[in-house]
Amino acid sequence: MQSASNILFLHAFNPISMELYTKRLDIEQEVARLKNENLSIGFVPTMGALHKGHLALVKEALCNNDIVFVSIFVNPTQFNNAEDLEKYPRTLEADLKLLSDLSSSIKVFAPNPTEVYNGEMKVISYDFEGLEYEMEGKFRPGHFDGVGTVVKHLFNIIQPDNAYFGEKDYQQLQIVKKLVDIEKLSVNVIGCPIYREDSGLALSSRNKRLSKSQLEASPKIYKVLKEVKEDFGTKSVKWLNDWVSDQFKNDSELKLEYFEIADANNLKSVERRDTGLKYRAFIAVFAGEVRLIDNIALN
Ligand code: AMP
Repeated sequence: MQSASNILFLHAFNPISMELYTKRLDIEQEVARLKNENLSIGFVPTMGALHKGHLALVKEALCNNDIVFVSIFVNPTQFNNAEDLEKYPRTLEADLKLLSDLSSSIKVFAPNPTEVYNGEMKVISYDFEGLEYEMEGKFRPGHFDGVGTVVKHLFNIIQPDNAYFGEKDYQQLQIVKKLVDIEKLSVNVIGCPIYREDSGLALSSRNKRLSKSQLEASPKIYKVLKEVKEDFGTKSVKWLNDWVSDQFKNDSELKLEYFEIADANNLKSVERRDTGLKYRAFIAVFAGEVRLIDNIALN
């Protein structure tokens, strides 16, 4: 049974009526009720500041499940940088409006850390078979333990049949698939394509923090990735690595943190191309203090 506190009215002339859960117990009761009715549950975990990339995941979930849950939770344990956590945009009212415009049947879980972590913000140390040490793992120590821990908690609470993650965070997607194996969870993890601005810039909640000149400079990230893809068949990996690093050498707005061509499965960076394997190029760039990541399938 839905309690009155779960219904949100945002504006007298523009009421938003949707189920908003903040308490673990309430949402667990609702999940039990839905399971009892044999309804399939789709789940889209987010940190809020929603944009069209998130909404594409939600639309995919709405098409393929009876019920869709979206969580909005800025997870403290996956931030290795306190300032990044503090400055992460929090726009709950706007997020709820976007979701209710999509479908009033979406159920939102927007808890505080105590609810998610059951009072104790303990991080589980995972062995993701090396995935956690590549790329983002090198530059954001502890990040994937935080991701694994929060996804485990959220999956335990929501018990989804299908969970939707963006290829924008391709390494995270691989980590979540591994987590499901490790924890023996019966969740189908579905990867969704990267949603981009017309300029090619991958949508990200962090884009809200970009200045006008940074925003104008950032489409170069995808432009570089596309050229790498074009040249992947004819140029060596070393040549491509050097070329990418040259592209950012004298850039006054964008600073390259890493560029790697890696095996799309185990994410190990490669020096040469073998037949029969899938490769992806991964990039992280700083625009001022804002860290942007992107990636592209190469073959
Ligand atoms: P976040 O709120 O940044 O944690 O993202 C929540 C989910 O949305 C993650 O699975 C992301 O990979 C996905 N996501 C974020 N940006 C995009 C995008 N531009 N295209 C597709 N998925 C995205």
